[in-house]
Parts: sequence; C-alpha cells; structure tokens
Amino acid sequence: MQKRLLVLGAGTAGTMIANKLRRRLDVGTWDITIVDRDDVHPYQPGYLFLPFGTYSPKQVTRSRHRFLPDHVDFVIGEVDVIDPAASKVTLVGGRELPYDYLVIASGTSPRPDQTPGMLGAEWRRSIFDFFTLDGSMALAEALRHFDHGRLVVHIADMPIKCPVAPLEFTFLADAWLRKQGLRDRVELVYVTPLPGAFTKPIASERLGSMLDDRKIVVEADFLVEHIDPETKTLVSYDEREIPFDLLVTIPINMGADFVARSGLGDELNYVAVDKHTLLSKVWPNIFAVGDASDIPASKAGSVAHFAVDIFVDNFLEHVAGKPMTGSFDGHANCFIESGDGKGLLIDFNYDTEPLPGSYPVPYIGPMKLLKETRANHLGKLAFRWIYWNILLPGRRMPVPTLMSMAGKTVPTTTSSTPSPTD
Ligand SMILES: Cc1cc2nc3c(=O)[nH]c(=O)nc-3n(C[C@H](O)[C@H](O)[C@H](O)COP(=O)(O)OP(=O)(O)OC[C@H]3O[C@@H](n4cnc5c(N)ncnc54)[C@H](O)[C@@H]3O)c2cc1C
Repeated sequence: MQKRLLVLGAGTAGTMIANKLRRRLDVGTWDITIVDRDDVHPYQPGYLFLPFGTYSPKQVTRSRHRFLPDHVDFVIGEVDVIDPAASKVTLVGGRELPYDYLVIASGTSPRPDQTPGMLGAEWRRSIFDFFTLDGSMALAEALRHFDHGRLVVHIADMPIKCPVAPLEFTFLADAWLRKQGLRDRVELVYVTPLPGAFTKPIASERLGSMLDDRKIVVEADFLVEHIDPETKTLVSYDEREIPFDLLVTIPINMGADFVARSGLGDELNYVAVDKHTLLSKVWPNIFAVGDASDIPASKAGSVAHFAVDIFVDNFLEHVAGKPMTGSFDGHANCFIESGDGKGLLIDFNYDTEPLPGSYPVPYIGPMKLLKETRANHLGKLAFRWIYWNILLPGRRMPVPTLMSMAGKTVPTTTSSTPSPTD
C-alpha cells in the first residue's frame, strides 16, 4: 500500500518540502498531498515595499500551482482539525485526508482581533498593518495623503515573523518622508515591547543608534493593553499613553487556530517540537516546520529554508526507521533595509547572536554583517528573484545550511549568547 505524506500549508516551508521530498520519495511508494486555503502564494517580504511604491501587488504574488511539482496533489481547502490519534485531517466542509506522516507548515498570522480597540472604527482609517497584502496596500493609500503629524510604528508583542520588519519600515518611512520634503512635519515614533531596538544585544545597540541618528523617538518596554480609537491613543498595561495620527502596527502574531483545536498548540497556537529535529514532542509521525513550530528561532523565511534542508534528510531517515542525524541550529539570515538604497545583514542562530563581519566569504563578502552598505540593499532586492526561482522550487543555494563563524568578529565585551525571547 502507498504511504501518505500530508503537508498542511503551501507557503514558504510547505512548498520547499513538497519539491525536495518529491525528488527523494519514490512515486510508486509515496503519495504527497499539500493543502492550502487558496491558490495565491505571496512573497511576504515584498509587503514591506508596497506602501512606498517600490513593488506592485503583481510582483509579490504568484499561483501556488506554479511552484508545486508533478505527482504532488494540491488540495485547496481550509484545514479544520487534525485528529492525531486517528492520523487524519478534516477540512472545513467535511473532507477527510488520512496520512501516515504529517507536516504542519501553516505559518503564523497577524491577529488584530487580539488587542481591544485595534479593529475598531479607526482600523484601516488611521490604524494599519503591513503584514498582509490588503493591509500593505491600504497603508500605501494612507501614506499618499499623510503630510504631517505623529507616525507611530508599533509592535504589539513578540514573537512576530521577520522581527526586523518593523525597524525596516521605520527606516524606509524616514527616508521616504525626507524625499517627499515632509520629514520636518512628521514626528516618527517606534514603540516596542522589547527593552531596545532588537532582541539581541549587539544588533540592538547598532540598530538603536541608527534610530537615534534619524531622530526617531523610541518607546521601549511598551506592552499595549488597548487602543482607544476615539482619542487615537495606544494605552499600555502600566498606563502609559502614546497618541498617534497614523498608526502602523504589527498585531500579535499567532499560529493557525486549527492547531489549537487539534490540541497541538501552546498559548499562541505554535506546535511543540524538538528544536533540532522538528519532530513533534508528542506524536512520532508529526513534524512542524517554519513559523508554525515553537522553536526559539526567528520566524523568518530564511529559518524555514535552512530548517527544511535539515528536515528533509531527517525525514528520510525517520521513515526508514533510522535515528535522525541532522540537527537544526536555528540559523537565520536576514537583510535589514535602512533607507536611501542601503541595508544591513544579520546572520545568527540559537547560540550565537548577530555579529559584525563579512558574508558569505570571510573578509571579501560581498555582504557586510551589521553594517549599512549598498550591496546589502541590492542583496535584499535580488532576494525576490531568488525566492521564486531557487528557494521555492527547492534548488540548492550556495550558502551553508548551518551557521558558520567564518568571517564573523566576536567583540571582546560580549558572551554572544542570544536572549531566549527570540
Ligand atoms: C512584512 C514581512 C516581511 C518579511 N520579510 C522577511 C525577510 O526579509 N526575510 C525572511 O527570511 N522572512 C521574512 N518574512 C517572513 C517570512 O515571509 C515567513 O517567515 C515565511 O513565509 C514562513 O514560512 P511558512 O511556510 O512557515 O509560513 P507561510 O509562508 O506563511 O505559509 C503558511 C501557509 O499556511 C496556510 N494556512 C494557514 N492556515 C491554514 C488553514 N487553516 N487551512 C489551509 N491553509 C492554511 C496559509 O495560507 C499559508 O499559505 C517577512 C514577513 C512579512 C509579513
């Protein structure tokens, strides 16, 4: 009898897994099915650029079908619940999909409904997000009419996907306002629940000083309790108030609700897995890969990419009854747009925080770590092509899967140990 692999989510991780495993699993022995709610694959990093007119929606979306190989059955449907004891998934409408092995790759989504007042009368009038295609397009329209006042960029809580995206938006907004001749008429405020600009100390110091240089006010340790839409004010649990004219918020991010309904999630609906193998801590035939898992790494496409590389070999060993020999290290590699055609790059993992240096070739680069350069910005722009043409089809990238210390400089004053929050 055919063995059945079922993948939930045809986003970044699910698509790469379908491509890589279809090449490695015999078609005569294994059926592969992948489920998603629609046929539109978004390049989510592109959402950052839509408000500033750098990309159009057409440049950041493609049909999911286009990236799925032959002999992978693509089912369009909304996952309702997993019954792990019976090894089956039920879709909304009642269709059942039995499996021998399940991969949960359903990602994480912004949840404005989780903060009182966010979805009130000001939603998409003066309160916007850019973590969705709709939100980003609505924000583009709002920015066109914004010519003075208080622009507040806000993170509701961590973890969020792409934890540097709010900083990037802030830097790009500063540069864009300067270009429009409006910067003097706009107060730019960055509101974060973290004690500083980022989760890791060395990067936090560097990025924090970039905010200072741009005269961006930082409100740290701010945990929003509610938003008052009438007075247009963010109110924190410790009763601090931050008024805004235009609020760009990153709502609380949560895993899919079906994960909670299936009894597989933590309080934010993330699936508990072993952080090195990505195998469920409870079920020996369930893995979670990408943003859907609870691993203490950044929720990012780069992390999904490196994790998938480790997962694929582990999966083949696991189904053959052998011990899994691959060990994911939490490797993340993220460009940070800083405006004016420049950007930074950070490269880190579970144990090593972002450090200065060169990447991928020591001393040569061409990318520089934790330093603003034009090459880093061009790398970020090139990434859209790489995503569609190399990453999603599951082709090999010429960069190491596990983080390397080659080219990195360890400052003498740091332990280079990251905080556990990210
Ligand atoms: C503004 C922004 C900028 C970003 N910039 C970067 C960047 O520069 N670098 C970087 O590495 N990462 C970046 N990211 C993060 C990156 O896009 C994600 O981390 C990555 O896509 C995660 O992949 P995933 O497969 O885990 O989840 P996703 O790609 O989100 O895929 C999850 C899939 O599951 C499907 N799904 C969920 N629930 C259900 C259900 N009930 N039924 C059916 N289908 C369901 C969804 O439709 C979706 O297609 C950015 C994200 C945003 C929002």
